[in-house]
Amino acid sequence: MSDIRFRSDVTVELVKHSASDTDVLWAARVSTRGEQSLDETRKDPERSTGLINFLMRDRHGTPFEHNSMTFLVSAPLFVFREFHRHRVGWSYNEESGRYRELAPVFYLPAEDRRLVQRGRPGKYEFVSGSPEQHKIVTEALQESYRRSYHAYQEMLRAGVAREVARAALPVGLFSSMYATCNARSLMHFLSLRTQHEDATVPSFPQREIEMVAEQMERQWAELMPLTHAAFAKHGRVAP
Ligand SMILES: Cc1cc2nc3c(=O)[nH]c(=O)nc-3n(C[C@H](O)[C@H](O)[C@H](O)COP(=O)(O)OP(=O)(O)OC[C@H]3O[C@@H](n4cnc5c(N)ncnc54)[C@H](O)[C@@H]3O)c2cc1C
Repeated sequence: MSDIRFRSDVTVELVKHSASDTDVLWAARVSTRGEQSLDETRKDPERSTGLINFLMRDRHGTPFEHNSMTFLVSAPLFVFREFHRHRVGWSYNEESGRYRELAPVFYLPAEDRRLVQRGRPGKYEFVSGSPEQHKIVTEALQESYRRSYHAYQEMLRAGVAREVARAALPVGLFSSMYATCNARSLMHFLSLRTQHEDATVPSFPQREIEMVAEQMERQWAELMPLTHAAFAKHGRVAP
């Protein structure tokens, strides 16, 4: 059997982008400057900050769509299942369990991952697990992953098609995908998939998709610092 690997992290790599605050400015200024809006973009930085804040505050969203970012994401299947619910302004391509043999890389919660859920649906809080709970999670998941990957390989060895054999694999299996979005669709995603004290509309996402969202946010903030600052200032609501 191939060597099983366990991971507690997720990775997000910005592989391609055409995204800057300037893209927001020229798109917005066509309203008042028509075809001269491109010349206006670098003239007055203070006015530019003001314009981006105005667009964000009053939720004039379309100027934030004229840009593009492509991320390569590596995360467990259960994260992708949540991720693909984000339909608008996102394009996805994921590795195939029909066309390739899936590698034995599985998710194990890190020691600081809160394990115990309290409260009621929609209002959960998570608290640290005891050492015993961490031990049982680690051992039970490892055992389950080993068994299911073994079953997968057994079927493949017997000549069963990959698309059938993969039914044995659990949602803790790692997958990879390209995800392309624009700043507006990313802000909507971040508003739902991060928990933040500045958010005027709080959300309570699963920690693992939040780990992906946090990495995306850091990389986006470097590309579009004025837009990111305005998003934070106006309550992390997508315009
Ligand atoms: C904390 C949390 C818990 C969740 N729990 C569950 C759960 O228990 N079960 C479950 O099934 N899902 C759950 N979800 C997923 C959730 O219901 C959404 O599918 C997901 O957050 C994507 O949001 P969205 O539809 O706004 O995003 P997008 O699909 O990207 O849409 C963006 C925006 O476009 C507009 N839009 C898109 N499609 C339509 C449409 N068909 N009609 C009208 N307007 C549209 C809306 O304004 C929408 O906000 C959960 C999400 C979160 C963040």
